[in-house]
Amino acid sequence: MRSDHRIVVLGAGYTGMFGAIRLARRTRRLGVRITLVNPSSRFVERLRMHQIAAGQRLAEHRIPDLLAGTGVGFVQGAATAIDTRARRVVVDGGAASLRYDTLVYALGSSTDTGTVPGADLHAFTLDSPRSAGRFAARLAEVAEAGGAVTVCGGGLTGIEAATEIAESHPGLRVTLVSLEEPAAMMGGKARAHLLRAMERLGITLKVGARVVKVLPDAVELEGGELVHSDACLWTTGVKVPPLAAEAGIAVDGRGLVVVDETLRSVSHPEIHAIGDAAAIRMPWGFIHGTCQSGLPTAQYTADAIARLLRGKPVKTFRFGYFHQPVSLGRRDAVIQFTHADDTPARGCLTGRAAVAYKELVSGSPLLTYRLSRRVNVTTIVSKRGHALHQAAL
Ligand SMILES: Cc1cc2nc3c(=O)[nH]c(=O)nc-3n(C[C@H](O)[C@H](O)[C@H](O)COP(=O)(O)OP(=O)(O)OC[C@H]3O[C@@H](n4cnc5c(N)ncnc54)[C@H](O)[C@@H]3O)c2cc1C
Repeated sequence: MRSDHRIVVLGAGYTGMFGAIRLARRTRRLGVRITLVNPSSRFVERLRMHQIAAGQRLAEHRIPDLLAGTGVGFVQGAATAIDTRARRVVVDGGAASLRYDTLVYALGSSTDTGTVPGADLHAFTLDSPRSAGRFAARLAEVAEAGGAVTVCGGGLTGIEAATEIAESHPGLRVTLVSLEEPAAMMGGKARAHLLRAMERLGITLKVGARVVKVLPDAVELEGGELVHSDACLWTTGVKVPPLAAEAGIAVDGRGLVVVDETLRSVSHPEIHAIGDAAAIRMPWGFIHGTCQSGLPTAQYTADAIARLLRGKPVKTFRFGYFHQPVSLGRRDAVIQFTHADDTPARGCLTGRAAVAYKELVSGSPLLTYRLSRRVNVTTIVSKRGHALHQAAL
């Protein structure tokens, strides 16, 4: 057993936070030192950023409070470099330097506004409470003037944002622009419910449309059409921080850390990568970034590190998707149950039952953190890539 082992967890988002708390519990008799690094001391509930955009006030959760009693140290700052030879993380350009024996890389992802000219200048994002708050303030002004808002991207984030905004600002003209059919990954019944909800909320859908430029007062579509827009929300895709690539850690074409079947970097096995920042292959294909898949990666990695420190063998990581929960404002939602590879299964929930289910899902990470300080909470039990049971989620 090791008593001088230093573990640094980079990123206190959904996965880093869970990983750090669970690690503390799993290693409590080993005397390891765990440090969690994050730029802000506020825990960001990304699953609820569209609620802030719609003008709702959310409870604020402080990272040091969530860590209280766990023994995990918190360093507020951004990791700006990783020196893999010296096993050292540089924080805020040199303001602090943290040595590690084991590194957990959980830096997540953020909206990619670099794909279309003008998006970085004129579009809002849901990346943080601050950016979502700025968008909310702009929406309030635009709504008062009876103006128009364009949501670019018909993925689940775009759908949740468009419906939330349309419900909370009935005077706004909301347009959702999407290259693909919204909710194309859902089954027919769930998709039909979702499309009816958008119609009921008066959302204009522009499907098969590619945005080529974002202007201060419009978005330009391929072919030249201009969609007038007093405020534009960008949700078309995500990017990951460049830190791993800059440090010479093996990454894929998108900059995600390439990991083996135990979620350890293929180039640097002392580095474990979890959540949106890791490229994780399952028998059915690659995991795509969700909280649903991220929490199990954190749970698995905490347990795996504890086992490695005890000199025990580690089993292969297995995960299967279970559901696609989508809010449609505060009064409606749709839950598509899925096969392990995220293709739709037969069941779906709509209406009030779905609203309650979605709220349980959105609140479950914080509940999981609080419970994990005292007991081992399971976020998923899977077998051969098939999700069998999801507890507390
Ligand atoms: C509006 C919205 C709705 C969503 N809804 C759902 C949903 O319903 N279900 C679902 O499963 N998923 C949903 N997702 C996706 C989900 O939020 C992500 O998959 C999840 O947040 C990934 O967790 P993570 O820990 O990998 O990354 P994050 O939660 O993004 O955390 C990364 C952390 O790293 C920190 N960080 C970044 N750079 C540095 C640095 N250099 N140094 C130190 N720290 C750094 C960040 O500040 C952040 O705290 C949604 C996403 C959005 C935006």
